[in-house]
Amino acid sequence: MSIQVFGLPVSRGVAIGRAVLVASSRVDVAHYFVSGEQIDHEISRLREARNGVANELVALKRELPPEAPHELGALLDVHLMLLHDEALIGATKSWIRERHYNAEWALSAQLEVLARQFDEMDDPYLRERKADVEQVVERLLRVLAGHNGQATSTPATAQAARDFAGEDPLVLVANDVAPADMIQFKRSVFTGFVTDVGGRTSHTAIVARSLDIPAVVGAREASRLIRQDDWVVIDGDAGVVIVNPTPIVLEEYRFRQRQSELERARLNRLRHTPAVTLDGQAVELLANIEMPGDAAGALEAGAVGVGLFRSEFLFMNRADDLPGEDEQFEAYRDAVIGLQGLPVTIRTVDVGADKPLERMSQQELRHEHGLNPALGLRAVRWSLAEPGMFRQQLRAMLRASAFGKVRILIPMVAQLGEIRMIFEALGRARHQLDEAGRAYSHVEVGAMIEVPAAAVMIDRFLKHFDFVSVGTNDLIQYTLAVDRADDAVAHLYDPWHPAVLHLLHQTIERSNAAGRGVSVCGEMAGDAAFTEILLAMGLRSFSMHPARIASIKQRVLRADTRALAADLQAVLSSDEPEELVRRLVGSRLPH
Ligand code: PEP
Ligand code: MG
Repeated sequence: MSIQVFGLPVSRGVAIGRAVLVASSRVDVAHYFVSGEQIDHEISRLREARNGVANELVALKRELPPEAPHELGALLDVHLMLLHDEALIGATKSWIRERHYNAEWALSAQLEVLARQFDEMDDPYLRERKADVEQVVERLLRVLAGHNGQATSTPATAQAARDFAGEDPLVLVANDVAPADMIQFKRSVFTGFVTDVGGRTSHTAIVARSLDIPAVVGAREASRLIRQDDWVVIDGDAGVVIVNPTPIVLEEYRFRQRQSELERARLNRLRHTPAVTLDGQAVELLANIEMPGDAAGALEAGAVGVGLFRSEFLFMNRADDLPGEDEQFEAYRDAVIGLQGLPVTIRTVDVGADKPLERMSQQELRHEHGLNPALGLRAVRWSLAEPGMFRQQLRAMLRASAFGKVRILIPMVAQLGEIRMIFEALGRARHQLDEAGRAYSHVEVGAMIEVPAAAVMIDRFLKHFDFVSVGTNDLIQYTLAVDRADDAVAHLYDPWHPAVLHLLHQTIERSNAAGRGVSVCGEMAGDAAFTEILLAMGLRSFSMHPARIASIKQRVLRADTRALAADLQAVLSSDEPEELVRRLVGSRLPH
């Protein structure tokens, strides 16, 4: 039966493929593909884990005190039986063999299949046996984690993943995917993503957009309603997921898919055209990247530099061994060399909130601490609380400046006291490099404007920094008190809110007046609906996912900054600025 699930459209386009469910488990599960040669090893990990759990259960039973209820012994027998049941272990092996899932992923995929079968049973006693299977799987996962699967089996390369994906395209369906896991899936086989939770600018959504594949988040029940191998259409424009579509619907979406491919090819031809408006204003279109390897894609997309290198992604999935100075230096240097002389703006780590260092989702974090991590120790606050690590990162960035143009960007600055501490740390980092005889060049230092306090006192910030970059994703979150990752309040997350427009305008205008560089690197920069209004506010530097550059360039080429500037005040004082801008721009754009 065909069903529709509604969520938030976060990455455009249409994806059609078979569902791969990434189950959320109480135990932390790594999901990655293993290569053909690693399959036997992965299966023997599973076998060892099964033997380990069996020994545990036998020992538990042996040590049961005589006064323990009889049911307890019987329960352990049931668990032992389940442990040897082909429906669990045999089928899990098939996931490893046929889909090349790592053992943990294969187990949780099979648990998902079994859990549904139990859910559908009429007999309440049998239905409740689901909990037993869950407990057994949990034990297995714990033993596997103890054997540290990830250290022994490395994720397969993207090419290997493509080789075994088979004929059908695959789409990923999950309750939530931590940003760190999204990075693992980067350039993998998935042609689309669906998650139950998340907001438009949650970091998971941002990574999905950076992959330039259709995605829907906040689809509430999706991972419960969709089953492994279901055919799924992801409509990333409308935020709709169609499960097992009828042939007519499928044909319609295939047609739309072909149309958007044609449109993409057409836009691609603008790659090397300079971005200049109709009235001759040159506009800088920069790229947001997450890994040094993204540099090539940025150049290919026609970016004239990197406006935001989110360095925290180097730190994720690395709970016990965070990258040291040399490793960081090499990553920054590679990005700088990859950009072939164009500037690279590297942001100091922005960990915390929905990008925790360890693999934990936002929901789990909340559950764990009962606090709001978005207002906690994140971004520069974290760096200043870890001064040794902060200086280490600054030294690595400074050293990369010997290989090209580097700019350092500090996230989430809000306090004047923080500014003083940042420059002290930089001074010490430079001094340490001098003492060690390490080369570095001049670097500009900028602040992200993403907290209303910083936007309100922008003049004072501009005295200290060479440039500013507006992080609209956070600026909106903090101005409107709406958690960007929370789908329950996603309808209130409004980039068109007059307060947001006002703060943006003030920041751009004051920075231009002070002769300081100003850029926008939040998602608004890559959203064509905002191009004209940002140009009218005086913005000439936009930083976005490489995949968005061509569309924004097309918009810039058709814009006349004078036209909308005349209407700017009307837009800023309008109760419905979105409507007004659409009307004003619509009346001017060629049809
Ligand atoms: C922002 O907040 O707009 C931004 C670019 O930073 P991030 O999305 O990584 O928080
Ligand atoms: Mg931010």
